[in-house]
Amino acid sequence: MGILLLSSPLPAAPFADALRAAAPDVPVWTSLDEAPPDEVEIVMAWRLQPGVLPRLPNLRALCSLAAGVDKLVGVPDLPPTLPVTRVVDPMQGVQIAQYVLAGALTFTRDLRRYAGQQARGIWERHPVRPVQQCRVGLLGLGAVGQAIARAFSPLAYPVAGWSRRPRELPGIQCFAGDGALPQLLGQSDILVCALPLTAETRGLLNRERLSLLPRGAIVVNVGRGEQMVEPDLKALLDEGHLAGAVMDVFDREPPRPDDWTWTHPKVLATPHIAAQASFDTVAAQCVDTLRRLRAGQPPQWLVDRSAGY
Ligand code: NDP
Repeated sequence: MGILLLSSPLPAAPFADALRAAAPDVPVWTSLDEAPPDEVEIVMAWRLQPGVLPRLPNLRALCSLAAGVDKLVGVPDLPPTLPVTRVVDPMQGVQIAQYVLAGALTFTRDLRRYAGQQARGIWERHPVRPVQQCRVGLLGLGAVGQAIARAFSPLAYPVAGWSRRPRELPGIQCFAGDGALPQLLGQSDILVCALPLTAETRGLLNRERLSLLPRGAIVVNVGRGEQMVEPDLKALLDEGHLAGAVMDVFDREPPRPDDWTWTHPKVLATPHIAAQASFDTVAAQCVDTLRRLRAGQPPQWLVDRSAGY
């Protein structure tokens, strides 16, 4: 009995090595063809094709290789009561926070402008944007959102955040629910999206909502590309309402060669690298799930299937 690892499009070897190191007694198969179907207890995957899970009669859980599970919970033949887990890696939160900070400060501290001046040999100083005009608005106050909040707080940038259910977090002005979103947007000079992709968050950042941001705002998306209506973002950048966008995730990854995001002067684009969970942590959490299920205990890091994250 063991683990079927279906890591595509990510390479299997680092995950398989980490699983074997974490549990030398547990067989790890890296393709459906090599796995005896009735011996698979756990499928570990990033995305899944329909038709895989129904072939595995003794499956106990589906473990995501990542924090986001949007490519797994939508699989049409996912058994309704199968536990699904996701990765919660504190270092991943820290990495995302580093990324968001770097991206936001690039704009709030004018580093692109100064890079342009340096290239032309120009010594010219501009006023520093006051912290009162660097109010951070976090969409998502989960593991990632809270790590980002902790990173901004020492910079004196006021931090507010938005979640589905009400939260109380020290040092963060908390908003909850759809009705509170306009108010949060209206006071966000730096809007950071750290939301999971669900039916509710798909297409959330459209023209109507992005227009509520203060003029000169910066948008950072580390959630999922499908949450951003990219043509609406482009229009607001072109019209001057938004001053910049930091994009780690895209509606289509990679974007087409002629996509506007490659060349837009107000866009800082990266190939979904804001954070990479450690292979050892991913493996340890998967093995923990297996051991718990074998012992009749519920897994940790369970996804709420009804909420979709
Ligand atoms: P969590 O589940 O810990 O937190 C999700 C947060 O989003 C919660 O605060 C939740 O609210 C909030 N939320 C979800 N749906 C809604 C909604 N409809 N309205 C308002 N708030 C909502 O997830 P993580 O913080 O660990 O990860 C978040 C996402 O970040 C991942 O799903 C993934 O897409 C992305 N990510 C991106 C990476 C990258 O490299 N770019 C790496 C890792 C993650 P509540 O508190 O009420 O539950």
